[in-house]
Amino acid sequence: MARARAEVDLGAVRDNVRRLREFAPRAELMAVVKADAYGHGAVRCARAARQAGATWLGTATPQEAFALRDAGDRGRLMCWLWTPGGPWQEAVRRDIDVSASATWALTEIVAAARATGRTARVHLKADTGLGRGGCQPADWAELVAAARAAEAEGAVKVTGVWSHFACADEPGHPANAAQLAAFREAVAVAERAGLDPEVRHHANSPATLTLPESHFDLVRPGVSVYGISPSPEVGTAAGLGLRPAMTLSASLALVKRVPAGHGVSYGHTYTTAGETTLGLVPLGYGDGLPRHASGAGPVRVAGKRRTIAGRVAMDQFVVDLGGDEAEAGDRAVLFGPGDEGEPTAEDWARAAGTIAYEIVTRIGSRVPRVYANEDV
Ligand SMILES: *Cc1c(COP(=O)(O)O)cnc(C)c1O
Repeated sequence: MARARAEVDLGAVRDNVRRLREFAPRAELMAVVKADAYGHGAVRCARAARQAGATWLGTATPQEAFALRDAGDRGRLMCWLWTPGGPWQEAVRRDIDVSASATWALTEIVAAARATGRTARVHLKADTGLGRGGCQPADWAELVAAARAAEAEGAVKVTGVWSHFACADEPGHPANAAQLAAFREAVAVAERAGLDPEVRHHANSPATLTLPESHFDLVRPGVSVYGISPSPEVGTAAGLGLRPAMTLSASLALVKRVPAGHGVSYGHTYTTAGETTLGLVPLGYGDGLPRHASGAGPVRVAGKRRTIAGRVAMDQFVVDLGGDEAEAGDRAVLFGPGDEGEPTAEDWARAAGTIAYEIVTRIGSRVPRVYANEDV
């Protein structure tokens, strides 16, 4: 029995991808597997997503994309977070679709294409209002013209025009319609300049789930692939037909009786009300649990849901088991799909004042991933 483990149900990943395809039946699906598939394990989740019909994979960094190629993935694969220096040549050689938000990037991509003797596949990214990555409308025509010139030379093929939402997790937010209008305009400018992208794409999970007019040719869900709702406003996982894939659990390291008035963990922010039993859960912020969940995070131990007593430490935290029976080695479930009474990652997010994305993504490498239902 391991100290702790994160069990990842690849059957749930496959089912979630199929479910998302039902939401966007006319679009291709790019499963976003950045940040080690939101902590779930990129290689296995990518494979599961492919099995369920994801024709594209998406990563943030080039290194994440290369790791998928190293693991044998040969399908369409896009990577969007670039800095000067690339490595563009490796990406072009390895058949990875790259992204450019500015002419500096396009210039480096063209140089890499010439150096490798290949045609680079490029997605041009417009800022339709997010105010993060992407090319501003004022600079878009220049980027498009440069891309068209590079196409004429055979250095690049513009395979995509794309953008990203700011507020899609708030259905009905006025920014969503404004971004779609700006996107249609950006696509029109690109087409008038002679570009003919294979895929126009704008939708993350919440837009895939709630905004069909944003689906265009391809949707890019991330968090929902792992069975997590993007926000309470979008719905619950169960209500959306999604199943959380990760279950985080640990073996109690110690169970002991303590008297009334005993301080618990650093700073003694919790004191036992009466004589009681404490259970020691061997997971902490060194494993990615939020320290903000001190005194608040939920965990199911000895048949009941409890709340963390006192502070989350680097490697461990304590639960007050009251008078209940438990022993070292008993399983504590921090979060899972929720159908056996265990909390969910969304419950943890609420307790820690964050989003469920962060809860699963931060579970660290010290926690082994154990895969279930790997075979179709
Ligand atoms: C992370 C990310 C996504 C996926 O977002 P979710 O909300 O997890 O679905 C899609 N596109 C881009 C550009 C991203 O960075």
